[in-house]
Amino acid sequence: MSFLEFGLSESVIHGVQSMGYVDPSPIQLRAFPIVLSGRDLIASAQTGTGKTAAFGLPILTKLGKHRPGGSPRCLILEPTRELAAQVETAFRDFSRFNDLTVSVMYGGVGYGKQREDLKNGVDTLVATPGRLLDHLEQGALDLSQIEILVLDEVDRMLDMGFLPQVRRIVERCNKERQTLFFSATIPPELQGLTQWVVRDPVIIEIGHRRSPADTISHALYPVSRDQKFELLLALLNKIDFTSVLVFCRTKVGADQVAAKLKAQKLSVVAIHSNRTQNERMDALAGFKSDKYDIMVATDIAARGIDIAGVSHVINFDVPQHPEDYVHRIGRTGRAEATGEAFTLFTGEDLEHVTKIEYFIGRKIDRQKLEGFNYLYCALFASEVPGAAPKPIRRKTPASRRR
Ligand code: AMP
Repeated sequence: MSFLEFGLSESVIHGVQSMGYVDPSPIQLRAFPIVLSGRDLIASAQTGTGKTAAFGLPILTKLGKHRPGGSPRCLILEPTRELAAQVETAFRDFSRFNDLTVSVMYGGVGYGKQREDLKNGVDTLVATPGRLLDHLEQGALDLSQIEILVLDEVDRMLDMGFLPQVRRIVERCNKERQTLFFSATIPPELQGLTQWVVRDPVIIEIGHRRSPADTISHALYPVSRDQKFELLLALLNKIDFTSVLVFCRTKVGADQVAAKLKAQKLSVVAIHSNRTQNERMDALAGFKSDKYDIMVATDIAARGIDIAGVSHVINFDVPQHPEDYVHRIGRTGRAEATGEAFTLFTGEDLEHVTKIEYFIGRKIDRQKLEGFNYLYCALFASEVPGAAPKPIRRKTPASRRR
């Protein structure tokens, strides 16, 4: 099916075609008719599969024309500033051939331009919750005209301490709205939490809701803690990389790894929430434009951020939440490109690795880097590196055991 067959507006179709999209992706095929019909929606799809256009194109079709001086009619909430900026850019690109306006609001930058945009009237507002509440509380923003509310990365929006803020925002939105939830991972417990936001939603799920994209090959590299950095360097030396994202657990850890890589004369930048908004934007822009080959990040960069051509993701630290593993490695292999992801892991990470393997429903291959001078690693004693992945046996619920 082509973009022409859904009743999307001509200007929007023209917009995506000029971006080089030829056919709708699976999530787009499923979401377009539902969003256009006005039903609420809970959609889960693997990262990098075209979620933004899945809601963006039908929303822009429904909004039709710009309303000068009007309050926003569509609100999109995002968990991080980077994601908000990325969705705003996509909306601008999709609306290149119409007069609909989009504005982005997040913290860490001045209020001036954001207030001016609101005064002039915006059709779509993309925002992180904190700054949006500031504008609401200052009386600069009215959400009573919201026709469509999107919670993107919804598992995060209703977790991570966001829930109270999100509740306050939703309460200020027009009750007669359409609500759309999008995420790569929708844990079952979330579905119970959503009744106060969505009404009789259609639920769509593309692919295995927990699995990383099939185009990513990923492996674990057991190593002792003392040799982690050495192994990272050896991996970087061995692979033929164009751009690499290295994930660390903490901001301090990310800064340390970045500094050590810099000392090796590698082209590196770090991104995490202790850096100023300008530094974060520069880091991302520099990484996207190939100014930096390596970006060292905390999980702030793991979700949804679309960086074309990330060839490798290296988890310097094992993620603590299993769903973050899927998000992190989803930064490579986007839009059908292939990618590789390596995770360094020490004996202390075993519990987290087990949880990740349970979450994605299979064992991850253990690898040993050839030619690397391994000191003793307890994990090698019990595991056979390079062994074929074994299927994971899930526990049978007590009711079905008998
Ligand atoms: P997203 O999941 O929205 O972050 O999109 C992931 C990437 O896929 C982005 O680079 C999009 O520009 C690209 N993309 C989205 N939809 C399509 C499509 N129908 N055809 C080709 N590329 C697409």
